[in-house]
Amino acid sequence: MSEKRDYYEVLGVDKSADEKEIKRAYKKLARKYHPDLNPDNPKEAEEKFKEINEAYDVLKDPKKRAQYDQFGAGAFDGTGGFSGAGAGGFGGFSDFGGFGGGGEGGFNDIFDMFFGGAGARHARQPGPERGNDLRYDLSITFEEAAFGKKVELEVPRTVECPTCHGSGAAAGTSPETCPHCHGTGQQQVVRNTAFGRMMSTQTCQHCHGTGKIVKTPCKDCHGTGRKRETSKVTVNIPKGVDQGSRVRLSGAGEAGRNGGGYGDLYVYIFVKPHKLYTRQGNDVIVEVPITFVQAALGGSVQVPTLDGPVDLK
Ligand SMILES: [Zn+2]
Ligand SMILES: [Zn+2]
Repeated sequence: MSEKRDYYEVLGVDKSADEKEIKRAYKKLARKYHPDLNPDNPKEAEEKFKEINEAYDVLKDPKKRAQYDQFGAGAFDGTGGFSGAGAGGFGGFSDFGGFGGGGEGGFNDIFDMFFGGAGARHARQPGPERGNDLRYDLSITFEEAAFGKKVELEVPRTVECPTCHGSGAAAGTSPETCPHCHGTGQQQVVRNTAFGRMMSTQTCQHCHGTGKIVKTPCKDCHGTGRKRETSKVTVNIPKGVDQGSRVRLSGAGEAGRNGGGYGDLYVYIFVKPHKLYTRQGNDVIVEVPITFVQAALGGSVQVPTLDGPVDLK
């Protein structure tokens, strides 16, 4: 992984900046570098955008920020928690990492292309393993943010195979305990070396660490117990949602292994700038030009608001 820039530097704030300053800096930069708003150099904007989001993810959270101040970005590598924003505005996906899970191909390969292999890849362990969390970056309009909205997303993800309910075994059969490792998923290997006999432990090659062997594989998933699917997911965008908010959909992430359950889906909200309105906290600001005569003598102007035009004296 390449050397990371300092998160404070990324947001252009001082180390002593308070939460408000950080949020303000983030909003300004997120707006400037949102890939939707940079059609001329989307690649560069996306890189920047990812960097900004990663920095903000850490600095907005006092606990993470304290960890970061103490240990640097390395403090978060173990969790693989910050993989940056998705590619290309609407419908960008990213893998929160933690568990790569080889074998399915396709989806992970796409992530690798966009994110340079963001998620940490661990050797597969036997026992239940929770599925990956997914991230979806959703761009909405200013009005949608103000009034809230129900959005249906199409989420490509890994689900439990409905035919074998995730076991990978054909109907009427069930996976058997691996006789080579007795279900532990690990094997002791003895090697003769110049220093004498060495014992080492490695992943069982017969069951690939799962501790189970499927004799008759399910024909729908070829024994993997998992399938790729595009799921329809409905998200309720709450009224008045702010830039960078996220909505968590429990269980809408990827299927786990060995009964480990599903990960979650996080929908990150990006509000497109409006040509008339800007938002300041809970207020909507609109600038209306008036003539010199109106300014001097007073008068009535029509002001556009989110609920329709209003006459203002
Ligand atoms: Zn199956
Ligand atoms: Zn085994």
